[in-house]
Amino acid sequence: MSLITGLTKNGREWTPEFIKALEKDLCIGCGRCFKSCTKNVLAYEEVDTEETVKAYMKIANDGNCIGCKACGQNCPRGCFSFEPVEVRAFGYTS
Ligand code: SF4
Ligand code: SF4
Repeated sequence: MSLITGLTKNGREWTPEFIKALEKDLCIGCGRCFKSCTKNVLAYEEVDTEETVKAYMKIANDGNCIGCKACGQNCPRGCFSFEPVEVRAFGYTS
């Protein structure tokens, strides 16, 4: 199995862990993850309830993720899960 890997500035190899899921039931809509992501992966979703409108976060552009995990590190509710991705999942060959 060959995973997508990258290089640090000094040439060390690392394996990104890409966004896998966001547990909507845990989300409080605080937006910390949204501010952390520079790749436009996340978006707000508004849900009407009887008394108010609640905002949650959702994965909007899954394919833009670079696997930095900044969103998860800044989430106070542990909403995110991540995983490395096989190169062949995208049809590339190494
Ligand atoms: S892992 Fe990084 S690029 Fe991917 S959604 Fe989270 S903050 Fe954005
Ligand atoms: S940081 Fe966590 S709790 Fe806050 S909006 Fe993002 S997913 Fe929801």
